[in-house]
Amino acid sequence: MSDGHISEPASQDHGHEHPKHELSRYAKRIYAIRDLLLEKGVITEKDIRCQIEYQEARSPANGAKLVARAWVDPNFKSRLISDPKAACAEMSIDATSINEFVVLENTEKVRHMVVCTLCSCYPRPILGRPPDWYKSFNYRSRAVNDPRGVMREFGLDLPDDAEVRVHDSTADIRYLVLPLRPKGSEGLGELELTRLVTRDSMIGVMDALPALPSHELATS
Ligand code: FE
Repeated sequence: MSDGHISEPASQDHGHEHPKHELSRYAKRIYAIRDLLLEKGVITEKDIRCQIEYQEARSPANGAKLVARAWVDPNFKSRLISDPKAACAEMSIDATSINEFVVLENTEKVRHMVVCTLCSCYPRPILGRPPDWYKSFNYRSRAVNDPRGVMREFGLDLPDDAEVRVHDSTADIRYLVLPLRPKGSEGLGELELTRLVTRDSMIGVMDALPALPSHELATS
């Protein structure tokens, strides 16, 4: 990753523990607190395992299900926008831990982009864990100063007459972008549509994936 650019890190930390001597000060502190809580019987290894499994089970697949349903069902879309948490419950997605949940509908003329300028506030029940770039100082500052430049980097080159609205997440408000349904996706079913809904399109830095012609979908 070069300076000034936002992209995925080469590798991501997915659960395995690093040798303790490689850990940062803060990570060492977390492990020390964990060990103390275990030693004092406040929590058990099973509690930790269950919590990790719960966290891992939350993924952008939840958001993709919501978006695809909204694309095929206008009534659901209205409910998703007017009462997002109730719409989540309809889809068996537990969004109750979010205080205020707002769904932002993209249009050809208005694109929404979500950032947390302060830290890493993110709709975890809907999108899982935030990507590293979302938490970076680089993204947190550039999303505000140059959102179009960030979008371009993700591959979305907006026309000049499209408005970009940047939304700052907080501990109280979490946002989900409802991306535009891709052109040419009219013949696709809900399940096929979920495959076009990327995490990044629900953060708003890019559009959903283009719909491939049906013969390409069949062989991909
Ligand atoms: Fe935050």
